[in-house]
Amino acid sequence: MKKIQMVDLKGQYEFIKPEIDVELQKVLETTSFINGPAVAEFQRDLENYLDVRHVIPCANGTDALQIALMGLKLKPGDEIITADFTFAATVEVIGLLNLKPILVDVDPKTFNIDIAEIEKAITPKTKAIIPVHLFGQAAPMDEIMELAHKHQLYVIEDNAQGIGATYTKKDGSKAKTGTIGHVGATSFFPSKNLGAYGDGGAIFTNDDNLAHFIRGIVNHGMYIRYYHDVVGVNSRLDSMQAAVLKIKLKYLDYYNERRKEAAKNYTRLLFDYPNIITPYRHAACDSHVFHQYTLRILNQDRDALVKFLNENQIPCGVYYPVPLHAQKAYASKHYKEANFKITNQLVKEVISLPMHSELSLDQVEYIANKIKEFLG
Ligand SMILES: *Cc1c(COP(=O)(O)O)cnc(C)c1O
Repeated sequence: MKKIQMVDLKGQYEFIKPEIDVELQKVLETTSFINGPAVAEFQRDLENYLDVRHVIPCANGTDALQIALMGLKLKPGDEIITADFTFAATVEVIGLLNLKPILVDVDPKTFNIDIAEIEKAITPKTKAIIPVHLFGQAAPMDEIMELAHKHQLYVIEDNAQGIGATYTKKDGSKAKTGTIGHVGATSFFPSKNLGAYGDGGAIFTNDDNLAHFIRGIVNHGMYIRYYHDVVGVNSRLDSMQAAVLKIKLKYLDYYNERRKEAAKNYTRLLFDYPNIITPYRHAACDSHVFHQYTLRILNQDRDALVKFLNENQIPCGVYYPVPLHAQKAYASKHYKEANFKITNQLVKEVISLPMHSELSLDQVEYIANKIKEFLG
């Protein structure tokens, strides 16, 4: 059996090496390292893939979130509701822009933001909601969009973990995650479902005016060269990364299918086993692309399990070990522990298993058997 890895970047490269090497060589020969043709081509391909009017590439996923928020012209003190159980970037950018993060608890089944908790947190100062499609599973977008419409709020989708997921709306129509709210943001960090060979990110929107405004923000607030209309940032996807992403985008559905297959095998082997809760999937199972395969371990020592797996050459992760409301940078005296029951529980129970498009059945079986051996 091949050595088990959390993410197999080498194996993934080998699978597409001839194509990648040719495209990277092209960038080297033309030396158009910034804003080269590969960037425009990738942008167009991703717009087609997502069926969205505008993709604005940028330097990383955190920038994408920050720039999306900057595009909405919010004012200091405006309240932004987001999930307590997510990667810190989501809340970090809210703080950086002097907006006020309002963290709310999540749903114990999907780990995604809890719609009832959002509703409770809305005040006259609320301006936006940032749902995160955590671990690759779509947040309840129908309900979120309804709530946003009712209260006149913006919705910014953090799609860093969900790229390629399809969400089926109540009316039966389908849309890619990240294209349902007013604006979406994603990351091309190497381990993400669509990963570059360095940093990268993108913003999506169907709103022509917002897209125009954001294209200026990513480029120093310029709409005409050397005329700076707003305070912007410098955030670019470089041509090397765009060349890699253009090739990998062709395989994204295949990669996601491979992840779903690995997930199905894990679940088949671990479902119904005492003290384990396998990931919940909506009926429309397309809406989960398994950026992570995350178990809840009940009434057992999760950290001891992590140690046991590591000792057996199985890497694994705890995403995330600390709720955001308990982080020093984001703590607030207004938060009450009783309002974060689910997140406080999840941080003690979750464990994410190796998950990538190169994972083989014998590896999944070995991992599942080791987990059962530990739990007895
Ligand atoms: C990875 C990630 C980000 C940040 O992306 P970077 O490209 O690393 O800046 C933001 N939000 C979530 C949920 C993520 O998983």
